[in-house]
Amino acid sequence: MSKPSSAVLLAGWGGAVRSTARVLSVTTEGEIAAAFREAARSRCPIGFRGAGCSYGDAALNDGGVILDLSRMNRVIEFDPKLGVVRAEVGVTIRDLWRLGIAHGYWPPVVSGTAVPTLGGVVAANIHGKNAFHAGTIANHLDSFRVVLPSGEVRTITPTNDPELFYAIPGSFGLLGCITEVTLRMRQVPGGNLKVSVVAPRSLSEMILEFEARKATSDYLVGWIDGFAKGTELGRGVIHQANYVDLSVDSNAKFALNAFAQDPPDTILGIVPKSVLWRFLRPWVNDFGMRLVNSAKDLLARRQARLGESYLQSHAAFAFLLDYVPGWKRSYGSGGLIQYQSFIPSEEAERVHGEMLRLAQARDLVPYLLVYKRHLPEPFLMTHAVDGYSMAMDFRVTPSRRAALWALCQRYDELVAESGGRIYFAKDATATAESVARIFCKDLDRFIALRRRLDPAGILRTDLASRLGLV
Ligand SMILES: Cc1cc2nc3c(=O)[nH]c(=O)nc-3n(C[C@H](O)[C@H](O)[C@H](O)COP(=O)(O)OP(=O)(O)OC[C@H]3O[C@@H](n4cnc5c(N)ncnc54)[C@H](O)[C@@H]3O)c2cc1C
Repeated sequence: MSKPSSAVLLAGWGGAVRSTARVLSVTTEGEIAAAFREAARSRCPIGFRGAGCSYGDAALNDGGVILDLSRMNRVIEFDPKLGVVRAEVGVTIRDLWRLGIAHGYWPPVVSGTAVPTLGGVVAANIHGKNAFHAGTIANHLDSFRVVLPSGEVRTITPTNDPELFYAIPGSFGLLGCITEVTLRMRQVPGGNLKVSVVAPRSLSEMILEFEARKATSDYLVGWIDGFAKGTELGRGVIHQANYVDLSVDSNAKFALNAFAQDPPDTILGIVPKSVLWRFLRPWVNDFGMRLVNSAKDLLARRQARLGESYLQSHAAFAFLLDYVPGWKRSYGSGGLIQYQSFIPSEEAERVHGEMLRLAQARDLVPYLLVYKRHLPEPFLMTHAVDGYSMAMDFRVTPSRRAALWALCQRYDELVAESGGRIYFAKDATATAESVARIFCKDLDRFIALRRRLDPAGILRTDLASRLGLV
């Protein structure tokens, strides 16, 4: 087995938190078990990394070793009749949809980018724009394999080991290394979705529209204008998308093809998308973002008034954020953080409204806000609740940093008081105290399980150290 690299500086996806670790690329379960033995011997803890798309410090390990799993990326089996895939954890969401689409299958749950690996998405237990009926990704797993800190390799199903089946998804690599997953894909009638636009004028309208539409939608995602105030606080846009077949879309069959799904590499056939972020750069400040948000709102209002709908490929709808490669660079060298809170339905309007007002009062308006509906989940450390999530992207600069951290810590208090949750895939700011208040008894059970599985404490990340999970 090769040795870890010398120390390298790694960053969370948002670029706002960084630390150094030695990186070891592994491709077999034997190499992972050997790395665990070495960690126990040398007392140098290990963290895992897939594609590094967690916004904060979930895939960092200051002064330790990071196991890079991205090269463990074989599809082992795919049954095109049933849409069941068995794959190693370095396979990405992009690999997965490209494998399924020609056979009429799409991954059951995807994130807003196609870059993450299967290991990362199961370790975080991601949700998508269909969270209101599909729940998180672990609901669609038949089984997964894991190397436990003891070196033992287990295949885990909901029946042979319910405790670990419901604890490992969402455990962020702190209970063992997932090496393989068996996932049920979703059958789709065609390669396109029919997308329609609604333009709610306030947060309460936004929530009413979600409730009215959730029984008849395949996907629902809201965007909020963080600058809108007063009676228009929380105004925005909802995109509703539904599967369509040949009766609605003459292209339905042709679009079941990877080439038809991918958006073009250029804008208007001329400007390469790879340079687009440079054009965004001058707009990523309060003045520019206020204009961008207002323009987006005007356009949505017009589309909604005209009852316009359009066809869009699954990939274009799901991975909107991948349209502008490297867009995060437009936030500048301080990067960005995201704060995503999950609040029970009955409290969502009040708490999310209060969060918006607080950000405005402190002059820290988030530039991008995304709203989603979720379901309660059976997984131990789940972020989802029967309610709504609001994801807020904040630009980080040296002068705003301390105030932003304080704002997010105030948000944690609101989340804890309302019985809500936060999401470690996005978190960079929470404290051990706030996480103890938010996760309560589930956190105690998680820590007890960790002590049993990893008594020597060989698994660690910066997030785990910051939040007192290790
Ligand atoms: C633009 C963007 C949009 C996003 N949209 C969404 C969204 O819509 N919904 C959502 O839920 N999330 C979303 N995310 C978050 C993202 O899906 C998660 O952070 C996911 O975990 C990233 O996968 P990764 O392969 O990059 O994992 P990493 O970030 O590398 O790792 C994530 C965590 O998993 C652990 N880990 C990685 N591999 C393994 C393994 N094999 N075994 C055990 N532990 C492991 C790591 O230690 C770390 O704690 C988004 C992220 C970005 C950047």
